[in-house]
Amino acid sequence: MQARYARTPCSGSQEVQESRGRPYNRTMASCWYSDSNELGVLYQLPLARDHCSQVVVVGGGMAGMSVAYFLALEGVEVAVLDDGPIGGGMTGLSTAHLSYALEGGYARLEAEFGPELTRQVSESHRAAVAIIEEITFKESLDCQFLRVDGYLFNPPGQPYTNLEFELRAARRAGLEVEWMGRAPLTGLDSGPCLRFRDQGQFHPLRYLAGLTRAFLRLGGKVYTGTQVARARGGAAPRVETVDGFRIDCDRLVLATNSGPQGLTSSTYVVALRLPRGSVPVALYWDTLPCYHYLRVVPDGATDGSDLLVAGGEDQVEDACSPIHFAKLEKWVRERFPQAREVDYLWSGKVINGRHQAALIGAAREENTFIVSGGGGHGLTHGIIAGQLIGDLVQGRPNQWAHLYAPHRPLATV
Ligand SMILES: Cc1cc2nc3c(=O)[nH]c(=O)nc-3n(C[C@H](O)[C@H](O)[C@H](O)COP(=O)(O)OP(=O)(O)OC[C@H]3O[C@@H](n4cnc5c(N)ncnc54)[C@H](O)[C@@H]3O)c2cc1C
Repeated sequence: MQARYARTPCSGSQEVQESRGRPYNRTMASCWYSDSNELGVLYQLPLARDHCSQVVVVGGGMAGMSVAYFLALEGVEVAVLDDGPIGGGMTGLSTAHLSYALEGGYARLEAEFGPELTRQVSESHRAAVAIIEEITFKESLDCQFLRVDGYLFNPPGQPYTNLEFELRAARRAGLEVEWMGRAPLTGLDSGPCLRFRDQGQFHPLRYLAGLTRAFLRLGGKVYTGTQVARARGGAAPRVETVDGFRIDCDRLVLATNSGPQGLTSSTYVVALRLPRGSVPVALYWDTLPCYHYLRVVPDGATDGSDLLVAGGEDQVEDACSPIHFAKLEKWVRERFPQAREVDYLWSGKVINGRHQAALIGAAREENTFIVSGGGGHGLTHGIIAGQLIGDLVQGRPNQWAHLYAPHRPLATV
């Protein structure tokens, strides 16, 4: 398989300057890893002998585990292989907005896809949030899932015509969206904004930990610390690991979140302590092309107060540039003066698909399926992949297949 991107462009303990000129005294790691007691199940034993399985899934992030779970529910024998722990790729670095207020916007999507396909894309993400909620309850997952509203606002000084266009396009796509005088934030006057009702948020690693337990209960096999060196589809699919073991299978699913460099960007996150209740628990985004995205984790800070998780400063370059953390922190402090210490900072890669939609479906090689290019909605795309690939493997049609069908070289990993 192709060499993949560095998992965490900024990791370890590089010296990074705070916006106030002092070095951050933090190891770069996402806030989700602080619950280490809950997450042991994400670390399973590596593959240590040759095997056969009906389906092999390479990659145990949101996409791979969703595919594995849905297939296991139907009694299919599935083995998941991951070179790290489950969730150790971008899923564990995400900020875990579960949203159908699609990045790039409905107005643009409608201009590219037309109103009917836009409505279907929107519907697929809305259904994905509902399915995550359903799984959370059905499997009793302790993953802090909440339904929250989302607020989209302009940077200062920008006319509001873009929000008006967006409101109309989102409503044509079937969404419940409202125009508001400002977001419900004390201190920050966001100006007019759009409210998207009933979005979601959760703890991505607790969710995957629960899903992994459910998958194992269903008889699924998980091998972590198992790097796949070669994966071939065709009449007799097989994966071979770097350690020299192999699994023969009937169907192969590649959920490694790989893509060509040109379609990837680095994105940065800082998470700061907040006085409890000082920012309503909701999702917040601005409309910049490289937009800022924020959410609150109630009681999520290291001192037990709330945590404001803010992302943005996306860059196309691969190398980590610590200055982006300082710029992001400055942006947050200007708008949320009540924010206190930085508890966590991290960065990751976002892999974009085509026309804001991931590539999910049958690859060129027979008996092989891929999921890639989830962009900033990789978590909902992961659930969509779970059902879509589940249906394709079982030989059933899927209502979203035409939206996500991979047709081009990006699809190869
Ligand atoms: C900072 C940040 C914030 C984000 N915020 C959001 C958000 O709020 N909402 C949202 O929906 N999306 C968000 N995203 C995007 C989202 O995180 C990803 O799109 C999504 O997690 C991708 O899931 P995945 O399962 O496809 O990939 P991953 O989670 O990356 O999983 C792929 C797995 O494949 C494994 N792998 C790769 N190669 C091999 C190999 N050769 N052998 C074995 N294993 C291999 C990796 O170790 C990894 O565990 C964000 C991303 C970042 C970086």
